Amino acid sequence: MLQTMRDYLRSLLLLELFQGLSVTGRYFFKTKFTVQYPEEKAPLSPRFRGLHALRRYENGEERCIACKLCEATCPALAITIEAEPRADGSRRTTRYDIDLFKCIFCGFCEESCPVDSIVETSCYEYCFEQRGEHIMTKDRLLAIGDQYEAEIAAARAADAPYR
Ligand code: SF4
Ligand code: SF4
Repeated sequence: MLQTMRDYLRSLLLLELFQGLSVTGRYFFKTKFTVQYPEEKAPLSPRFRGLHALRRYENGEERCIACKLCEATCPALAITIEAEPRADGSRRTTRYDIDLFKCIFCGFCEESCPVDSIVETSCYEYCFEQRGEHIMTKDRLLAIGDQYEAEIAAARAADAPYR
């Protein structure tokens, strides 16, 4: 009976409401840590591993020599490479796919590459709108490499890890 009366009084005086509002009031004047994405962005670690890219040399020639080390080292079996020699005897890929649904962004492919061809960029803003878009083909990887080359080269010059 006493408990019922107490509960009745609490609800009549709106005590719980005022308790909740006091928490709101306390946080109202504190430093905000909500980031207004996409206008504001949270800081990114220099070791962040984002979307993959295939790089080219300055003369436009693709770096990848189709050694398949990245394919062999990938623990998620996300990379598929096919290759054949060109007319000049050089070896290049005819197919280079990364399945981003399988990829765990471990960075092993980047570490294994002897010619610094496959890299992971700082890009994390991407999505898939069509079935099959999660397969990053060679053309798409090269296009991303072209887009991010300045950033990748600058990070390499500064000896920054991964990027
Ligand atoms: S980041 Fe790791 S899982 Fe993803 S493709 Fe490279 S080696 Fe495979
Ligand atoms: S990306 Fe690098 S490791 Fe992979 S096949 Fe090409 S050269 Fe070899």
